Amino acid sequence: MSMHWGRKAAPTTESIMSVRTRFAPSPTGFLHVGGARTALFCYLFARRHGGDFVLRIEDTDRERSTQESVDAILHGMDWLGLDYDEGPVYQTQRFDRYKEVIQDLLDRDLAYYCYCSRERLDALREEQKAAGLKPRYDGRCADGVASPPEGVQPVVRFRNPKDGVVQFNDAVRGEVTISNTELDDLIIARADGTPTYNFTVVVDDLDMNITHVVRGDDHVNNTPRQINIMRALGASEPQFAHLPMILGPDGQRLSKRHGAVSVLQFRDDGYLPDALLNYLVRLGWSHGDQEVFSRAEMIDLFALDGVNKAAATFDMDKLGWLNQHYLKESAPESLTSAFEYQLQQMAVSLANGPDLGEVIVAQRERAQTLREMAEQSVFYFQEPDGFDEGAAKKHLRPVAAEPLLALRARLTDVSDWQAETLGVIVNDTVEALELKLGKLAQPLRVALSGRAATPGIDITLALVGKERTLARIDKALAFIKERAKQA
Ligand code: GLU
Repeated sequence: MSMHWGRKAAPTTESIMSVRTRFAPSPTGFLHVGGARTALFCYLFARRHGGDFVLRIEDTDRERSTQESVDAILHGMDWLGLDYDEGPVYQTQRFDRYKEVIQDLLDRDLAYYCYCSRERLDALREEQKAAGLKPRYDGRCADGVASPPEGVQPVVRFRNPKDGVVQFNDAVRGEVTISNTELDDLIIARADGTPTYNFTVVVDDLDMNITHVVRGDDHVNNTPRQINIMRALGASEPQFAHLPMILGPDGQRLSKRHGAVSVLQFRDDGYLPDALLNYLVRLGWSHGDQEVFSRAEMIDLFALDGVNKAAATFDMDKLGWLNQHYLKESAPESLTSAFEYQLQQMAVSLANGPDLGEVIVAQRERAQTLREMAEQSVFYFQEPDGFDEGAAKKHLRPVAAEPLLALRARLTDVSDWQAETLGVIVNDTVEALELKLGKLAQPLRVALSGRAATPGIDITLALVGKERTLARIDKALAFIKERAKQA
């Protein structure tokens, strides 16, 4: 591999030859919504410009990186459908390359060995703090160490420019200027020879020809350091875009305290990948006042100049609203496997139940998530666990016995067990008894589902099926009788 990098001019958003973005998570936890939003923006930008999207796993911190996290990240990306063109590239497989570049910097005196002990550095930091100064390495080893202390493995420090400024034009934040006096000679290789984050990122972004570094703004302070290293390596920097923070409703940085933040948790909670992506694209990006974006539209419309500077607040209600929108808009057959997953999580056997697509159509006006939908649909598949107390008290009263019996009598002969036919029968029954529909429909709902709210009574009868409907009416009648006795 070459030590010099081809790209000499910083790319601009307009004059892009071939866009290459990367998502570079550290596998120290699950894929959270902040990471997923970064991945989405990188993905969209690459797709928008017909470029490539690379997945890089930054696993050099071997103590904190776990295979479980790697799997969760890959799984989360896959579930969201954020497909990458290259990778996953693992940094732990590139140690030889990092060593090679570190050696090159040492050879060219752009980096140096530092033998300062932890004690010395700690004391220095304390001194500087006490004097009201920003803690930074004082450059003791910068001019060479005449007699290196024996048995001490040195770290390698990058020789940061002493003066001048680092300036870059962030696609989100605009011009950012930092004085080199604010920066110090940062460690690029630890005493055990392993490279550090700010260094591996630079080597990788250059080796991978990344044109646009889109990442969270928690990295904005690293950027000038990385730019200095890039320049020392004879390369120019990519276009940076630092995305605004995501906050919880209390104004604090979004975290587990605020509820679900893991992408796979959202899946388990019954959200659809398209809804989550649509939600995430609007977290810090806007296109007029449009809220609903298909994936194709996102790709078509995404631009870095639409990214907001201000932090974005995570809003579960809006996500719920979008999720319901997608539940209603999607072809039911495209939702059945995710719905089945929810029912399985609840240990509901689907063996004798109705068609999942029909249940989805019956329920989707009433549920914001597939989980909610599953919870409200258990009775279509198995016997309800008794009657909801309030519902039974209100609706399974002696006056309900007559209409339920009358309906039962009419239902026994029905061979065409379809919602339409059943709806007509229910209406005929109440008409014959000169009752309002609710006087039959409500007790019947409770009989069939155990609760007072279900989808339309006609479709509910159809989905519960004839045999189980008759048995459940009998059970409700027995309950009413028992209750009358006790009264
Ligand atoms: N590995 C870093 C992180 O997970 C991201 C580095 C980058 O995007 O430059 O925060």
